[in-house]
Amino acid sequence: MRIDHLINGKSVAGKDYFETVNPATQEVLAEVASGGEAEVDAAVAAAKEAFPKWANTPATERAKLVRKLGELIAKHVPEIAETETNDCGQVIAQTGKQLVPRAADNFTYFAEMCTRVDGHTYPTPTHLNYTLFHPVGVCALISPWNVPFMTATWKVAPCLAFGNTAVLKMSELSPMTAARLGELALEAGIPAGVLNIVHGYGKEAGEPLVAHRDVRAVSFTGSTATGNRIVQAAGLKKFSMELGGKSPFVIFDDADFERALDAAVFMIFSNNGERCTAGSRILVQKGIYAKFVDRFVERAKRITVGDPLDEKTIVGPMISQGHLAKVRSYIELGQKEGANMLCGGLDAPVLPDRVKNGNYVLPTVFADVQNSMRIAQEEIFGPVACIIPFSDEAEAIRLANDIQYGLSSYVWTENIGKAHRVAAAVEAGMCFVNSQNVRDLRQPFGGTKASGTGREGGTWSYEVFCEPKNVAVSM
Ligand code: NAD
Repeated sequence: MRIDHLINGKSVAGKDYFETVNPATQEVLAEVASGGEAEVDAAVAAAKEAFPKWANTPATERAKLVRKLGELIAKHVPEIAETETNDCGQVIAQTGKQLVPRAADNFTYFAEMCTRVDGHTYPTPTHLNYTLFHPVGVCALISPWNVPFMTATWKVAPCLAFGNTAVLKMSELSPMTAARLGELALEAGIPAGVLNIVHGYGKEAGEPLVAHRDVRAVSFTGSTATGNRIVQAAGLKKFSMELGGKSPFVIFDDADFERALDAAVFMIFSNNGERCTAGSRILVQKGIYAKFVDRFVERAKRITVGDPLDEKTIVGPMISQGHLAKVRSYIELGQKEGANMLCGGLDAPVLPDRVKNGNYVLPTVFADVQNSMRIAQEEIFGPVACIIPFSDEAEAIRLANDIQYGLSSYVWTENIGKAHRVAAAVEAGMCFVNSQNVRDLRQPFGGTKASGTGREGGTWSYEVFCEPKNVAVSM
């Protein structure tokens, strides 16, 4: 199979191609066009030309087309989920039941929202001030490999619905479902040039795209290191930067133990642990610490590691051999740093024949971790849990915040006052109280500190995809 760029509604061949590989089997899935400056220039030019007409299309008309795209995705969930699972190793129970349906919802939601974009009025005795929200122009949308289809649609849906045009660049490790998105967008009737897709590597395709002078906004999801490079290369533009995380999952003695345990297991091992909002630092109060560690390890040992196409699998393969090596290096490091490894480790998991060459690692639990250790401070982005004991509320807050990141956070306690105090004190863009991460599309999604800038979701998406203008009329 060959995957080409999508530029101005047409499939455009690449000068070079790279392979995308199934991380469970090492089978080559497709040859993918490897874009560079020339393809980026052509895609941005197409998006620029398509912009005025699309921006001036009534929101109700744009909404129809964007909604139609959501319906087409919903119709093709099994096919897209299987492609996504094969390309990036996320298990089918997640792609089929959560991630691809959520992608369809992104279009339905923003189709509705774009018809309701309204401003504010600030009347004074001398002037009537009101705000208009204009589309921004050509937007660069850059997506990582961990939940590629959902992340791409989370950007494409508001971008197009609010009247912008887009050039999308997927991760070179997981480009396949975006190619399908491009086909479905044309089938939905979205005009040529409104959504363009350039495939390729970060340096060759991503950097010229973000630096392009006709690109007005950059919505990027990926690592903090790349986010820093992008801001420097892009210069003065609107940014939404959704970056890395190492989120604290704080469990107090008085928490609902069983629910907290379930959620803690889910938040580090689901999505193969390759999840930006993973609760990867589990802070547990000393009164329940020993019991929690025992029960957590018991649960981790029971997790099914295997074929991502099997509905029962919880942990599938790591995206690439390089990423597997990185995750394994942290497992070695944790032992060297003196953390107590209670299960998992570097032994090979027992696997079904079909996936015996996949990039697998066992769910691994480190207890008695000190927050200063590198395994607690750095994003491992795999199924590796760090459990850290704490004494009281003040220490929990100090440990939660003693980190460069600030994406998500989780607080478990039955004491309502404590829940609100900790939620207010934790340095993170999101805090879930007595809950795992549950997305509401109206909620501001994003992080603080090294986890990013800007928020997307609901009216928060105006920040990147709309340009507000104040109009002051003399009375
Ligand atoms: P990455 O930063 O390596 O790559 C992300 C994307 O950026 C890819 O498409 C890549 O090709 C592109 N890229 C790389 N260098 C570039 C450059 N110089 N200019 C422009 N584009 C460039 O990240 P990854 O390994 O694909 O993804 C994992 C990271 O993403 C983790 O840190 C994770 O926490 C983060 N992430 C964050 C969120 C969030 O919402 N905050 C969500 C998912 C993943």
